[in-house]
Amino acid sequence: MKTPLIFDIKRSSTVDGPGIRTAVFFKGCNLDCFWCHNPEGKSPLRVTALFKEKCICCGVCATAEDPVRYCPAQARRIYGNEYGMDELVEIIRADKPYYDATGGGVTFTGGECMLYPEFLSELAKGCREAGISVAVDTAGNVPFESFERVLPYTDLFLYDIKALDSALHRKGTGVDNGMILENLEKLRKRDANILVRIPSIPDFNEDETDKIKRYCQDRSLPYELLPYHASGESKRRAIEENEKL
Ligand code: SF4
Ligand code: SF4
Repeated sequence: MKTPLIFDIKRSSTVDGPGIRTAVFFKGCNLDCFWCHNPEGKSPLRVTALFKEKCICCGVCATAEDPVRYCPAQARRIYGNEYGMDELVEIIRADKPYYDATGGGVTFTGGECMLYPEFLSELAKGCREAGISVAVDTAGNVPFESFERVLPYTDLFLYDIKALDSALHRKGTGVDNGMILENLEKLRKRDANILVRIPSIPDFNEDETDKIKRYCQDRSLPYELLPYHASGESKRRAIEENEKL
């Protein structure tokens, strides 16, 4: 079974689906969106970042065997940790009273969590057995067999549509949207619970958002707009800075 590295676990999230949620971020993505707000999650491998603005030029880097650990300014950070399946279920289960009180649960996201269908379906099953509602946040660019695997244990798909125009989609994300739209249609026909999410990206999809909304309305699919935020910029710069070392 292909096991993902996890680059973040956010507890008490209110932006990753209904209610209070724990969001688990899987490393690796097969899109390359130029605006990506989680650039540390694009590669399936561990990445190190150097936040130059925090560096106090102490020189420890030059001599320490483990500069990330010993950096006194916490200017260096590694993204990507290994977790066992049971360990993750336990972490997620810790906030169950909050999920129960607010209609929340766990959201698997990334990167692209659907790149790990076997691991994800086992993990989702474990959460379901613990009485926790499961949401899967995906860009949808995977074979439908992967969806078939996780569908029985998923209460809600948060399904991103970035552009309907295929050429524009390729320009912004590096891939065609054919499989993404096909999978959405197949999920809809399977009566999956879907919330389409439309990220608003300046200088990219301003002319597309109304089209996507109409597309959803025509198919009775609920949707929401996601506001743009530039939070990925400092992380992108920090990863590039570390690559220069
Ligand atoms: S990154 Fe950290 S350890 Fe390295 S020189 Fe800067 S402050 Fe010192
Ligand atoms: S699909 Fe999401 S995680 Fe992947 S590159 Fe695009 S914005 Fe980043």
